[in-house]
Amino acid sequence: MKTVEETPSDTNAAKPLQALSGLTFPELEKFVVEMGLPKFRAKQIHSWIYAKYAETFDEMSDLSFELREKLKSVAKIPLLEIAHLQVSRDGTRKYLFKLPDGKIVESVLMVFQDRDSLSACVSSQVGCAVGCTFCATGYLGFKRNLTSQEIIDQVMCIQRESGKRISNVVYMGQGEPLLNVENVIESIYTMNESVGIGARHLTVSTSGVVPGIKRLAQENLPVTLALSLHAPDTQTREEIVPITTKWPISELMDALHDYYDATNRRITIEYVLLAGVTDFPEQAKALADMLKDLHCNINLIPFNPVENLEGVVQYQRPSRDAQNKFKLIAERSGKTVTIRLERGTDIDAACGQLHNVFAKTQE
Ligand code: SF4
Repeated sequence: MKTVEETPSDTNAAKPLQALSGLTFPELEKFVVEMGLPKFRAKQIHSWIYAKYAETFDEMSDLSFELREKLKSVAKIPLLEIAHLQVSRDGTRKYLFKLPDGKIVESVLMVFQDRDSLSACVSSQVGCAVGCTFCATGYLGFKRNLTSQEIIDQVMCIQRESGKRISNVVYMGQGEPLLNVENVIESIYTMNESVGIGARHLTVSTSGVVPGIKRLAQENLPVTLALSLHAPDTQTREEIVPITTKWPISELMDALHDYYDATNRRITIEYVLLAGVTDFPEQAKALADMLKDLHCNINLIPFNPVENLEGVVQYQRPSRDAQNKFKLIAERSGKTVTIRLERGTDIDAACGQLHNVFAKTQE
């Protein structure tokens, strides 16, 4: 016989609530069946979470009061908590999300005045093992991979908080997505099937993990692959993107050609302009030569100075003149070359920056 202390709600209170946002439809179906509910309830809940951005069960007006109470006793909607939010003058919103184990990742919502579409930049890992010397996340070191649900709920949390519909997602926040390739692939399918963002509107950015590029190509999804090349010569690239020692530039270029052949998707080449390191005219020429046969666009990123853990700013941003000169030479490749539009420069919008500032305030 149950005592007063052993009522079902007390027993459940000890168990963590199951977060539903970020789950796939089959996972939601499994959840409702395990609760002893008919399968069609999964469809209703799925629609409330992904189409109507519900944050609580109380919003689910086509479920009875009793059912909502029952759901509340075992589940909740968001998986992540917003630990911090910064809003830039240009509308960019930068979020720090607390994961279920208390770790923090960051995501950014980019708003463009000249476009209706909104892009979110999501993290795929806590920290990063690659250790690019110009990157704030690289200074944090690697902590762990994110699950597909944790990746998806970043997008859902942003949509719930901002009330805006995201149309593009870039996997370009903390972490190297292709060192977490299986969870990233799972999240791409869920972005498509549940969140409603087609693969053509997704970009996966890599520092050059060749096995990951091959694995992604096998799925034959129309996802854009962005390669953070950052230097055309091995010596400079090894210095600033240490992963180059593992997968050399020649192997990387072969993998990019194969990716295009498999998916028919033009590659985006990201190139960070560091004054006196990667902005020399000879490098622009070498870049143009290297890329002339690849189906790609080139995106130049003038560096946003960031302090390392010792508080030292190691690299500088090239002058506007140097940026434009580099662009003109790179255009000899016959490719479209753009200098990236800056977002959120009045907030800590470079990858890893907000997390570092936040970490310092918590010390
Ligand atoms: S730039 Fe990307 S791959 Fe390099 S350390 Fe930063 S998060 Fe990792």
